[in-house]
Amino acid sequence: MTICWTYTKTRRHDTPILFKTNTAKFKTKPSKANDSERKMSDTDKPFWEAIPLADMNKEQWESLCDGCAKCCLHKLEDEDTGEVHYTEIVCRYLDRDNCNCTEYKRRQELVPNCVWLKPEDVKDFHWLPSSCSYRLISEGKPLPRWHHLRSGDKDTIHKRNQSMRKKGIPDDKIPEEEWEDHIIWME
Ligand code: SF4
Ligand code: SF4
Repeated sequence: MTICWTYTKTRRHDTPILFKTNTAKFKTKPSKANDSERKMSDTDKPFWEAIPLADMNKEQWESLCDGCAKCCLHKLEDEDTGEVHYTEIVCRYLDRDNCNCTEYKRRQELVPNCVWLKPEDVKDFHWLPSSCSYRLISEGKPLPRWHHLRSGDKDTIHKRNQSMRKKGIPDDKIPEEEWEDHIIWME
């Protein structure tokens, strides 16, 4: 799986106009968890608890993504408060049947603000959904029981209704000026 930033919007209290800024996005093609990814460290903790995000290797880093696709939802950031409001509007390139990006290779061409999420961006992880593995770990919190690194099954997240599978409205179906009417939660 790949993680990227995609369009995020900003709004002000005194105006309904939405200003485009960077928002987070990802490409959902989770790498398979395996024994090496789940290996315990010499401190007897799983790697995601023992190794700082910045020190993880590529395989470990990518295996953290739970494939929820919540970061492919459009968000509105309040310019005054910094609050991030999630809408039910999702990137048109997300396959909502499996939570994968349908245009992974062309994503940055099609969605210019869709960039990779990197360890050095950790200070900006507040915009990610509170269930996001990267945000949880950056905040020193444990991964949920339905996370594939704990359950051993990447379908657990979908079975537990924690992903965007079969949810959301593609962004080409709703005019941007109406997105503010589709806010569903705030981070
Ligand atoms: S192009 Fe869209 S669906 Fe693909 S990774 Fe970026 S935000 Fe997600
Ligand atoms: S775990 Fe985080 S980066 Fe991965 S799909 Fe979910 S919200 Fe996006």
